[in-house]
Amino acid sequence: MMRAWLLPAILLLAACGPGPEEAETRHRFMAMGTLVDVTLYGVPAAEAEAAAREVETLFHALHREWQPYGDGALGQLNHALGTVPGTVPTDLATLIAEAERLAEATGGLFDPRLGALVKLWGFGSDETMPAAPPPPEAIAAWLATRPVEYDLGGFAKGVAVDRAIELLQARGIEHAIVNAGGDLRAIGRKGERRWRIGIRAPRDAGKVMAALEAGDDESVFTSGDYERWFEFEGRRYHHILDPRTGYPTEGLASVTVLHTDAALADAAATALAVAGPADWPATAAALGLEAVMVVHDDGRIELTPAMQPRVWFTSEDYGRQARVRSLP
Ligand code: ADP
Ligand code: MG
Repeated sequence: MMRAWLLPAILLLAACGPGPEEAETRHRFMAMGTLVDVTLYGVPAAEAEAAAREVETLFHALHREWQPYGDGALGQLNHALGTVPGTVPTDLATLIAEAERLAEATGGLFDPRLGALVKLWGFGSDETMPAAPPPPEAIAAWLATRPVEYDLGGFAKGVAVDRAIELLQARGIEHAIVNAGGDLRAIGRKGERRWRIGIRAPRDAGKVMAALEAGDDESVFTSGDYERWFEFEGRRYHHILDPRTGYPTEGLASVTVLHTDAALADAAATALAVAGPADWPATAAALGLEAVMVVHDDGRIELTPAMQPRVWFTSEDYGRQARVRSLP
């Protein structure tokens, strides 16, 4: 009985669904050591492909320019820091100034000058993972001298995502997601619906812990201790480093930040991970954030009052672990 009237309804829906020129298109490529997805809605296939290819070219160019030790602009700057002062390209100078501003706002927890420390730990390469932590004396020496070498890994992906969205908007594209390994910015909508975003569970590989519906222009960035790490003598060492100790951060498994600005969201997620379980709310407030979710090492979840109504958990287990925590 039900089926008899459901069928025409489905046919009707299909008939007024998106035509071929309005469908969703997705292009995927590897860049900055991660998978990048460019999802567009309402863009004809040929135009979508051309736009996605431009985004891919942009990502590769920025990666080259901002690699700390290659022959791009940042690699050259880092090389020159030990010798004579040279000229820094305007684009890179602007980026470094922005990174320094974030460093100041976070009391140095976000520290773009810790390139030598990242190198010491061996987290500088996209391909290889270190086998053991550096000797304690080497870390002590870094803490004592703090040589300046820039590493923009804590927010380069966010800046690249912002620029990719700007590139798409300049082409007249209004509905898009640029997703770099789970960190993304979404604009517009997917037809009648909002874009739906998944947030990964830090301790259940491959699982989505929570989901949210993106606003008209929103970035969702997560920093976690599960993205780049190795185990040595039963301990886990990961790539977010605390500039106060020289060692990987402790206490938080992941930090997710919601903000319009992808660059800020990226840097902020890294900074809050460094701030840790006690201090992340103060750092979030200092950066002007409102919507944040953190997952503690022991599985406890904290959400700010602005984040709480935005997300829904994919299982009751996650929901039970969650508490609201206000920002100062
Ligand atoms: P991912 O890029 O993997 O999503 P993050 O955004 O948290 O993760 O960036 C981690 C990278 O940032 C590290 O690989 C390193 O290059 C750099 N980094 C590590 N610790 C810090 C820090 N305290 N401040 C700024 N950058 C950092
Ligand atoms: Mg970051």
